[in-house]
Amino acid sequence: MSPHSSLVEYRGKRHFDRTPEPPGGETSKSNEPLFVVQKHQASRLHYDFRLAVDGVLKSWSVPKGPSLNPRDKRLAVPTEDHPLEYRKFEGIIPAGEYGAGRVIVWDAGRYRNLTERDGKLVPMDEAIASGHVAVWLEGQKLKGGFALTRIRDGRKPIWLLVKMNDEHADPSFDVVSRRPESVLTGRTIEQIEGKQMAAGGKAARA
Ligand code: MN
Repeated sequence: MSPHSSLVEYRGKRHFDRTPEPPGGETSKSNEPLFVVQKHQASRLHYDFRLAVDGVLKSWSVPKGPSLNPRDKRLAVPTEDHPLEYRKFEGIIPAGEYGAGRVIVWDAGRYRNLTERDGKLVPMDEAIASGHVAVWLEGQKLKGGFALTRIRDGRKPIWLLVKMNDEHADPSFDVVSRRPESVLTGRTIEQIEGKQMAAGGKAARA
């Protein structure tokens, strides 16, 4: 077994006998262009914006969440790659564990890579490495073009997530407050319940 090397950090931060989060299996061969945004009430509320690229979820933590207003520049801090299975995770990370708190699947769907340079499509891995990514989202809440741009490099990189100006831009609709619910279950983050961890560490049904 050779776990996807980019998941070493993800696994190293978590105890899978104590958290209901998925350890993640072998790298998926799937290159389906899926995205997910998870609302995560940890020590601080934030939204985890994740794009499936080469079998893992490339991830950014967005404190204020996405906006449909192209004038809003939302801070997005890169976090460790997550396994593809994580896109369905909704539940409670127990106190004392990494990221302790509540998680819901706030939006999900497919994306299309729009990143171009000199009129040519730039592959997603190269786009992320270069610090400029443009994607078209087909979510339930987020639709249309979004740009992710790295504004500071180095040990603590910072990116901005900005809605592109298109027919899905809507400065008058505050999507995070107007649509707080999970797209998986319809529950708000306050309504979710944790899975009980049975002896031996297997997650029992909630
Ligand atoms: Mn998070």
